[in-house]
Amino acid sequence: MKNKFIIAAVETVVFNLLCLYLGYKLFVDSWTEPGEAAGFFGGNRVWIFAVIYGAGTMLLGFHIYISMVKPIIKAQAELEKAAEESKKAESIRKEFVANVSHELKTPLTSISGFIETLQQGAAEDPEIRTRFIDIIAIETSRLKRLIEDLLVLSDIENRKESADAREFNVKEAIVKTVQALEPIAESKDVELITDLDQQAAMFGSPDRFRQMMVNLIENAVKYSDAGGKVWIQAKTEDNQIQVSVRDEGIGIAEEHLDRLFERFYRVDKSRAAKAGGTGLGLSIVKHIAALFNAELKVESKVGEGTIFYVTFER
Ligand code: ADP
Repeated sequence: MKNKFIIAAVETVVFNLLCLYLGYKLFVDSWTEPGEAAGFFGGNRVWIFAVIYGAGTMLLGFHIYISMVKPIIKAQAELEKAAEESKKAESIRKEFVANVSHELKTPLTSISGFIETLQQGAAEDPEIRTRFIDIIAIETSRLKRLIEDLLVLSDIENRKESADAREFNVKEAIVKTVQALEPIAESKDVELITDLDQQAAMFGSPDRFRQMMVNLIENAVKYSDAGGKVWIQAKTEDNQIQVSVRDEGIGIAEEHLDRLFERFYRVDKSRAAKAGGTGLGLSIVKHIAALFNAELKVESKVGEGTIFYVTFER
């Protein structure tokens, strides 16, 4: 900007010197005495000078605008945008901290309440003691899951590149995930059905990919009723690999679909809490899909089921 300012100052000085010289040539040097024949410029000297000076000033002004004023306006707009984004980021951070504190406080309050009641004598009754200890165990594992999910989220956000990124077979990764989740599905009497393209291979972190599949399949099982089915499909089309997880569970109403991938967003708070969700599962899915440059889509109908699509470019 400093250089541009010097150039503009030099341009202005040179232009004015040239105009002075032109003025001298037109009005002093070629001056004719009354009665003498008019020179080459005749009586139009004032007009010629005015046109040249006006056009020159306009050109100079236009050049200064393009080279100095416009960049300043652009930089100012960018600064305002950056300030707005930083304000937005700050408010998201504050909201996140408030949400995390609330999510941690709820089970902790419950745990300390039950411990206090046990200490005040409830421990004497074996039946109450067992029931309370069971509740404490449930709340503790909820806390553990929450902290694990928070760590996964922060790990994904901090380390964009995974150390274990490599070419891997999609079918193998999904089969491993499904095998690990089979006991959970069985305990809920939900059947996991796979239809996986043997050839599908992609580059990235297989661990992250499996984490994403765990979250999607776990949700499909969690929000399905007993006797339900969950379909996991991976197909290759042109240059894309599309992975989908479909269930015939409770479904999600249209108005929730936009906010579904936000941290701690839950459609039905009480059902999600009962199902043991942390509210971070889909947010983790969104971040992992972004790491893979994959497109994430959801379609759902209340009472009919939900289908999540993740489409990877090869
Ligand atoms: P949670 O840990 O509560 O399951 P998620 O981020 O995984 O959190 O999901 C956010 C919300 O989206 C859930 O609370 C639930 O209401 C809804 N949801 C996610 N997957 C499904 C699904 N397959 N069927 C119905 N609702 C779902």
